[in-house]
Amino acid sequence: MKEYICIVCPRGCHLAVDDENDYAVTGNACLRGAAYGREEAMHPTRVVTSSVRVRSRKHPRCSVKTDIAIDKSDIAKAMLLLDDVELIPPVRRGDIVIASLFGSEANFIATRDIDE
Ligand code: SF4
Repeated sequence: MKEYICIVCPRGCHLAVDDENDYAVTGNACLRGAAYGREEAMHPTRVVTSSVRVRSRKHPRCSVKTDIAIDKSDIAKAMLLLDDVELIPPVRRGDIVIASLFGSEANFIATRDIDE
């Protein structure tokens, strides 16, 4: 049995997911919570936020995030890739910083504008 707090809405239901019984979910007050609990137990993913270096005296770091959630098991590897990135201004919010993480549809994108 795995236990989670549902983060889909502010109510924060305490979920129990029975991984020995077809990932049956209890403790959820709605179907969205059941879907969340099953997904969290079977295939956990996260949107990853971080920052990268910028060749700029005024703004030496730029915040970035993945544009979709990635496998939780890939987060450490994805963060390591960011160590080698240095952006050159101008940077625009939504610019792709690293494309197709590990061959997936996920990209790291800039989350702010930096002009100089
Ligand atoms: S189970 Fe439903 S009501 Fe409970 S926190 Fe999740 S989304 Fe909200």
